[in-house]
Amino acid sequence: MNRFPVRKVAVLGAGVMGAQIAAHLVNVKVPVVLFDLPAKEGPKNGIVTKAVEGLKKLKPSPLGVPEDAALIEQANYEEHLDKLRDCDLIIEAIAERMDWKLDLYKRIAPAIAPHAIVASNTSGLSITKLSDVLPEEIKPRFCGIHFFNPPRYMYLVELIPTPTTRPEILDQLEAFVTSAVGKGVVRAKDTPNFVANRVGIAGMLATMKEAETYGLSYDVVDDLTGKKLGRASSGTFRTADVVGLDTMAHVIKTLQDNLADDPFFPSYATPAVVTKLIEQGALGQKSGAGFFKKVGKDILRYDTKADPASAQYVPAGGKADEIVARMLKKPAPERLKLLRESTNPQAQFLWAILRDSFHYCAVHLADIADSAREIDFAMRWGFGSNRGPFELWQEAGWKQVAEWVKADIDAGKALCTAPLPAWVFDGPVATNSGVHTPEGSWSASQNKYLPRSTLPVYQRQYFPESVLGSGAVAPLKAGTEVFKNDEVRVWTLDGEVLIASITAKLHLISPTVTEGLLKAVDLAESQYKGLVIWSPDDVFSAGANLEALMPVFMKSGAKGIAPEEKKLQDAMLRIRYATVPVVSAVRGIALGGGCELAVYSAKRVAAMESYVGLVEVGVGLIPGGGGLAYIVRRAAEMAAAGNANADIFAFLKDGFTNAAMAKVGTSAIESRKMGYLLWSDTIVANKDELLYVAIQEAKALFEAGYRAPQKKLFPVAGRNGIATIKGQLANMRDGGFISAHDFHISSLIADVLCGGDVDAGSLVSEDYLMTLERKHFCALLEHPKTQERIMGMLQTGKPVRN
Ligand code: NAD
Repeated sequence: MNRFPVRKVAVLGAGVMGAQIAAHLVNVKVPVVLFDLPAKEGPKNGIVTKAVEGLKKLKPSPLGVPEDAALIEQANYEEHLDKLRDCDLIIEAIAERMDWKLDLYKRIAPAIAPHAIVASNTSGLSITKLSDVLPEEIKPRFCGIHFFNPPRYMYLVELIPTPTTRPEILDQLEAFVTSAVGKGVVRAKDTPNFVANRVGIAGMLATMKEAETYGLSYDVVDDLTGKKLGRASSGTFRTADVVGLDTMAHVIKTLQDNLADDPFFPSYATPAVVTKLIEQGALGQKSGAGFFKKVGKDILRYDTKADPASAQYVPAGGKADEIVARMLKKPAPERLKLLRESTNPQAQFLWAILRDSFHYCAVHLADIADSAREIDFAMRWGFGSNRGPFELWQEAGWKQVAEWVKADIDAGKALCTAPLPAWVFDGPVATNSGVHTPEGSWSASQNKYLPRSTLPVYQRQYFPESVLGSGAVAPLKAGTEVFKNDEVRVWTLDGEVLIASITAKLHLISPTVTEGLLKAVDLAESQYKGLVIWSPDDVFSAGANLEALMPVFMKSGAKGIAPEEKKLQDAMLRIRYATVPVVSAVRGIALGGGCELAVYSAKRVAAMESYVGLVEVGVGLIPGGGGLAYIVRRAAEMAAAGNANADIFAFLKDGFTNAAMAKVGTSAIESRKMGYLLWSDTIVANKDELLYVAIQEAKALFEAGYRAPQKKLFPVAGRNGIATIKGQLANMRDGGFISAHDFHISSLIADVLCGGDVDAGSLVSEDYLMTLERKHFCALLEHPKTQERIMGMLQTGKPVRN
């Protein structure tokens, strides 16, 4: 249990990182005050105000909803130092200069609360050296807290203690950062660039060097070192462009300035091309050009050989050779063997960079991290790899790969001649064929396997991300299985709450899924306290499975679909009126039928990164699994809550726009603003706590004497409402903003949302609205333009505009 109550956080420095860290704290409901220097002209908070305004425009958005920027309290060091007293945590994120940071610490020290934790977000300075200047009483409460950019989206936060940091301070901070802020914590040693940037940037430098050796262009390297290699899709050079070449040069300089004794020191030289691009002001994405440049729709790549007087950028688009791409799809042992033995330069290049990373990590493990797990998690969470370097090495066959790496070192092919450490070949790692075991991960400094952290906060993670080889049970094999069909697994962890996991691709809802969920509801009602719908990956459900309905449609047309759709609608109602609570644990996309499943549940527990919406219009349809009936009911409920005589139509407008424009929330917070989550729902900061919280919520509802809602009739806007909406739609159509088919679909949405051709205020039931949904849905299925949209989506995965 986290016994470190953080009532408020101060962030010092409203630059790129500070402002976005503050924004993310707002996302997770942590009150925050953001400081910067007093402005020289105008209001003293000018610098902070500008930064906060900037947050609203930044893409990808650092905020759940832009208007929440107002929740960031603004301050400057001249007028508001006293505000620090209320803060339990102070995160310093000012410019990367030791002297400036030290000056600031001295200045704020008298205002810091006696219990507050003070942490620096520095990327490259020594935390211990920073700590040295602090008053004695603050030193035990000081450490490093290294967020990655962009902080909302990057899961990794490195925590770095100094020799004087009190251990319980770090434990408290780890609990807060994990559970409240929602991040994956890696503890790092106070060595230059800590873990992720040390290994990641050394890896990028090695990749740039080997690319030159094998004569590969930037676009080809990026294709080879992106998704195909199980790494971030931006590959190597585009990642450098996104990070900013100046920032990258800064991180490289830290390596150069501090690691003269490192055997890899020569490979820390700044690549000539990076220096050249920086000189030209081509700093990457932020300055419009770097290794790549976007001109209109074309992507160009920098060409070092091009005549500087003429175009320096040439068309990009080079791809991996087909034969190499095929090698990359093989299982790890075969993959590495093929790459190593191939004469294809791309394959040789890939073996070379993998060898370099294994070599580098093995040589440095003892110095930079407590165990191999920290390095692997840092590379996954900070650099977007599917697997860390040690995991891949172990997967490919520990001893064999070790021998290959050794052979290359001996042959002078590696980046340096430093031998692999003895633990690679002798002792427990060799015996166990790897650094990760069920006992723990190898610590080269302590010569033993270290288990995972046992901090109480991790008890909230039933299935935390785990490294390959750790023997962690896969969630879909865990617990007690109660029922299973081809697309749903129904199981329980505690015998009290049932869990239904959709296992179909993208968790698409087919008749088999519906059948599995209904069975789960039956079982939950008879023997459990509730049902949680949860899956271990980052998709809740991409919607109804149109492909599964194809055979029925081919055989009997829309008439054949109507009964299938009714079954889906009935399943939604069964979930809503179940005698035990059904809790949807939403994470990632919940679209169309997935959104409907969520809104018909008794409660939603949603990860911050949840994207919810009714998107059927994209395939030329209307929401047909109760999505529109839901919007009508919510509008009636909100009107009733406000004022018994309130105009329903006012509450319907947003719901109409969201469905008619297939809008999707860009966060759980926005999805709630759009009405797909309720204020009474729970938004969870850490994705790995979702199942825990959902089970707690289901139990709490049950224990509080849960009864399903009563079936009610509710008032609709009727034919007047339809006429109003259609009038506006006609203007949009005539103005060329929407197509004739969009007009048609939107009119049908309006028809359902207003309850059809009835008087305003008429009372209708959910069943009645669902019948209307079904009628229009089936009619649209027969429409050639809708069929064109469906076929387009099934064939290309992209919406057809017609
Ligand atoms: P930035 O240049 O965007 O912002 C720095 C802020 O510090 C500015 O708002 C500036 O007004 C303020 N500042 C400048 N001089 C000051 C002084 N003497 N006293 C007080 N405030 C001063 O920098 P950034 O990129 O946000 O980096 C901030 C910190 O975070 C650095 O330590 C950096 O190493 C670290 N970091 C950066 C990134 C990144 O990708 N940019 C990632 C992780 C960590």
